[in-house]
Amino acid sequence: MSIVGALIEITNGKIKKSNLGVLTAASDRGNNEVYALVFEDADSRFNTLEQYGATRIVRISSSKADLMKSPDLIARAIIKTMEEYGIMSLIGLSSPIGKDLLSRIASRMNKPLIQDCISVDLTKKTVIKSHFSGKTTAEVKIESDYFISGIRPNAIEPAKSPGKAEIISFDALVDGPVGVRIKEIKQSDSNRLDLTEANIIISGGRPVGSEKNFSILNECASKLGAAVGASRSAVDAGFALHGMQVGQTGKTVSPKLYIACGISGAVQHYAGMKTSKIIVAINTDKDAPILGKCDYGIIGDLFEIVPAITEALK
Ligand SMILES: Cc1cc2nc3c(=O)[nH]c(=O)nc-3n(C[C@H](O)[C@H](O)[C@H](O)COP(=O)(O)OP(=O)(O)OC[C@H]3O[C@@H](n4cnc5c(N)ncnc54)[C@H](O)[C@@H]3O)c2cc1C
Repeated sequence: MSIVGALIEITNGKIKKSNLGVLTAASDRGNNEVYALVFEDADSRFNTLEQYGATRIVRISSSKADLMKSPDLIARAIIKTMEEYGIMSLIGLSSPIGKDLLSRIASRMNKPLIQDCISVDLTKKTVIKSHFSGKTTAEVKIESDYFISGIRPNAIEPAKSPGKAEIISFDALVDGPVGVRIKEIKQSDSNRLDLTEANIIISGGRPVGSEKNFSILNECASKLGAAVGASRSAVDAGFALHGMQVGQTGKTVSPKLYIACGISGAVQHYAGMKTSKIIVAINTDKDAPILGKCDYGIIGDLFEIVPAITEALK
């Protein structure tokens, strides 16, 4: 049984759901001791974390500095925690926060890092990750005494592994010069569901035609409990916000259900959603590439099909 650190992300006071997959990977069916590393109040979340395999919850702070003001300080505090508890394997999310923090940690420790993994094997020290815009996957072995990796949000299905977890407070005592200081965090649209956390996503492409027409998708999404995404063409045309873009230069998502409406299925879009569990495509062209890549294809006009789905859900 080895000790594995799981970096837990908390946004707006809530544990991100995709962290549960990180705990599941770290626990490896109860074979490892999982230290859930948190930076905000852990008490109220004790239950969720221990339900998914955390055996210890380490609440990290520094009596010398406010860690939340600098990712550099957080990275140093995590390294101190790893040294304190003998943590040689660290897993987090390949989210914007995780990409930043894990890179800082690996770089400071001068250890290898693999990001955007779709599975990890802590015993063999291997990961699976996709390459070439999702056209191939590779099994990569980490040749190091340390194992540091980021997991694609939602790529690993959370599995309950209930137990008792102990809460520990750890003062990392870090301070001093910081490279970057966070002055303010601005919320873009607090009502919008986070694409990377969503179980269901309905996305629109260029044919949606305008920002106003996206209301068709928004209405369907509200009935489905889904987040709304977009192709780059829809974003470039100003129909949707950049934060909604799915794909190689947008967000990488792995929802349970992805509904592509009027999206051709270009490789750059597919790269961002191919790990969705079920893909449904609505397209007027029976030869559109997306129809060769989906689980269910509907050949038809999105302006008829989407409102019909919404109506049926009502
Ligand atoms: C470096 C690089 C990075 C890129 N990154 C991204 C990225 O991150 N994300 C991304 O999405 N793209 C990205 N692209 C762009 C990508 O190559 C495609 O151009 C883009 O995804 C196409 O968007 P689309 O499918 O919405 O539009 P289109 O290519 O115009 O396809 C529209 C589709 O809708 C169908 N259609 C038309 N009318 C209707 C209707 N009424 N109802 C139903 N179906 C209809 C058409 O048959 C067609 O298949 C990138 C490109 C490059 C070069």
